[in-house]
Amino acid sequence: MKSTPPTKRPTDAAHLDDESRSLPTELLNLPWIDGHNHAHTLSWEDRERYALSGCEGMVMVASGYHWTPYKPARAEDVRYLWDDAINRRAAIERNHFFEARLGLGIHTGVRIQNPDELLNAMADYCELDEVVAVGETGVTPSQHVEAWDVDEQRAIVQGQMELAAARDLPVILHTPNTSADGGRSYRPELGTPGYEKNTTLGQPPVLAGENPALESVKLDFEAARDAGLDETRVVASHADENNTEYLMEETDCYLSYTIGHSWLIGIDAEDVANAIDEYGPERIMIDTDCANVLRTDPYAIKRAIFELYRYGIDPESIRRVVLENPRDVYGFAE
Ligand SMILES: [Zn+2]
Repeated sequence: MKSTPPTKRPTDAAHLDDESRSLPTELLNLPWIDGHNHAHTLSWEDRERYALSGCEGMVMVASGYHWTPYKPARAEDVRYLWDDAINRRAAIERNHFFEARLGLGIHTGVRIQNPDELLNAMADYCELDEVVAVGETGVTPSQHVEAWDVDEQRAIVQGQMELAAARDLPVILHTPNTSADGGRSYRPELGTPGYEKNTTLGQPPVLAGENPALESVKLDFEAARDAGLDETRVVASHADENNTEYLMEETDCYLSYTIGHSWLIGIDAEDVANAIDEYGPERIMIDTDCANVLRTDPYAIKRAIFELYRYGIDPESIRRVVLENPRDVYGFAE
């Protein structure tokens, strides 16, 4: 029944067709899991933001060279990161109620002088219940501070994959992004605002060729094959336009799109929606990669849930991408 509106003259609202629009209210309370972040380095309030916006679980990754104060880095520096994360994890869970799990790995963004010591120690760490993934790791085309020979990197990546295969743990790959950064650059002595990193310490690349970022990923999958690691146990984080086609068509891994720092790497919900349209939601996830060393958004996944719907993705597919896939791969409780 259409009644005459009491407004003085017709308003915009009177022209909206309410009947044809059904709102996806189930998305307001849809729980989600962040399969790759560094939330143990964030503030208490940031972790509270995860809880407030419906985060049910997360994999806090302890492997990043950003947090080793001494450069060049040694095994003991990375091991400290692992121990620090183990030390913080239970307290974080008790404070915020989401399931906080760990990923431990040897990142190749900085050369580690004695990596075999780490690999040897890692086997015991992988026995811990709270360790649900190995990583983030993966061959990188250029390092910070000190270059690392490609064959040596690949060997360390493969060694971690062998451990993961032996314990049926998934591996989080750090795939290098090729963010198109055109536009004006900042004064080099100031680095990139929003990213605490001394960019002048970047080393010349150890991988040449037309597409070193993609070459790195291909080396990772060679290593996975040699390690006997099932490709369905690999999560390629930082998926982007440069690697999506290869990962989807040539491998069986999961692709995780990192959207917590879109301002830096240029990936957002639109890229995720395009990938779902093209390949379906079965092998797609979203992660935030939130960390204290750069400008990141703990609300990124919650925002993306709404944005994916606006881009035409159905609620079942959204649920698959933000909840079911990471839950199944990392073994979170149903
Ligand atoms: Zn990360």
